[in-house]
Amino acid sequence: MSRMAVLVLDMLNDFVTGNLKTDRAARIIKPIQKLVEAARAHGVPVIYSNDAHLSTDFEVVERWGKHAMKGSLGAQVIPELAPAEKDFVVEKRVYSGFYETSLDSLLQSLYKGVGVETVVLAGLHTHICVRHTAASAFYRGYKIVVPSDGVQAFTRKDHEDGLKYLKNVYSAEIKTIDEIIEELKKI
Ligand code: ZN
Repeated sequence: MSRMAVLVLDMLNDFVTGNLKTDRAARIIKPIQKLVEAARAHGVPVIYSNDAHLSTDFEVVERWGKHAMKGSLGAQVIPELAPAEKDFVVEKRVYSGFYETSLDSLLQSLYKGVGVETVVLAGLHTHICVRHTAASAFYRGYKIVVPSDGVQAFTRKDHEDGLKYLKNVYSAEIKTIDEIIEELKKI
């Protein structure tokens, strides 16, 4: 893994304690804390990819109802994982962090313009935003690493099926956060 960036997807109040909460989200908070702290310590960029919806968004109207509405408390990153000063925050309005956002150009600008090679995708949910962001990353030629203990979903089945899909379809490497941190240290 070289020229890595750690992406933290949708670790927002509404998904952890609010409208669309799942108790399963709590178990990935500490591991992600460890991951982002290690990334910052080793100069690996940390990027938050956050839902920031408008009331007319298709996803809100057609599927999930109001959640992570732009500017609301529910759309803020949970306090335990609050972005640090040098981290990046990129808002999104659909499942994929790349769709009509500046995420790709941000990734290309990092490492002195050489660009990121490997994206580590952590956060919520394994089978929805992680999956769609992985698809977009795959189309653009990024290598993908997903921490098995750094993503979660509404159910165990959604989570486990989601991991399998990421591995089978996007060649994502599934690792533990501790394994990823070991790799970070080698950079
Ligand atoms: Zn959403």
